[in-house]
Amino acid sequence: MSEPAASLKGFLIRGLPVIKEGDDIPALLRSLFDLQDGDVLCLASTIVAKAEGRVRDLSEYQPDSHAVEIARELGKDPRFVQAVFNESSDVLIERPFLLVATRFGHIGVNAGIDQSNVGDERILLLPEDPSASARRIRQALGKDFAVIITDTCGRPFRSGVAGVAVGWAGIAALRDWRGEIDIHGRPLNITQEAIVDEIAAAANLLMGEAGDATPAVVFRGLVYPHSGGSLFREKENDIIRRRLKA
Ligand code: GDP
Ligand code: MN
Ligand code: MN
Repeated sequence: MSEPAASLKGFLIRGLPVIKEGDDIPALLRSLFDLQDGDVLCLASTIVAKAEGRVRDLSEYQPDSHAVEIARELGKDPRFVQAVFNESSDVLIERPFLLVATRFGHIGVNAGIDQSNVGDERILLLPEDPSASARRIRQALGKDFAVIITDTCGRPFRSGVAGVAVGWAGIAALRDWRGEIDIHGRPLNITQEAIVDEIAAAANLLMGEAGDATPAVVFRGLVYPHSGGSLFREKENDIIRRRLKA
């Protein structure tokens, strides 16, 4: 395993337009920033989703009776609740908020569906398969670098939202420290570090959440493993998830 980087630079890319379906994000990025091999490009899921046509009108959803019931209890629009159910492969919590597993494995409130930065009566679904999106963007840019698709999420046990990785390419999700030796000569047995989440949190910090219009960040100077691991625990091995369903 290579040494971790001793310093790190982050660049906020300015000048991206409001993204619409079909926009060529790699081409836009190429015109604004000179990516180099080894860089880590972080993109807010929101722009990737918009480019992929994941904006929906609430009027497209016909809520079923269960969605209507939950929506009434939550004080939400039943069409929104139906959208969350449609994006879910598993519902972990229904009240007092919807915590669900998306089809691609990420667990999040409201299936990561956003109502900010999209306009009235409209919602934005997460990309259908964010790691596939990351792979496409990486290929289109033709460099030996990493792509991380981020989303701002709440966390269990901790207040406040933070950026997490929902998709990645060209970088391992986890840095495996198992077998490495600590300062007292003891081998590490368990530690797998969620490096893509750590990077996503830093990127999110630079991006902002509101009208900043800065959904792209590049980190330079990181040393990272290139492939392996996932952030999404196997359902069967996720003790907290099992307790929630019990
Ligand atoms: P999320 O964290 O992926 O859900 O995305 P946010 O809605 O929090 O947006 C992250 C950043 O991207 C913020 O700085 C937004 O202002 C910016 N942003 C969102 N949509 C667009 C867009 O279409 N174009 C540009 N240039 N910026 C956007
Ligand atoms: Mn979001
Ligand atoms: Mn955000």
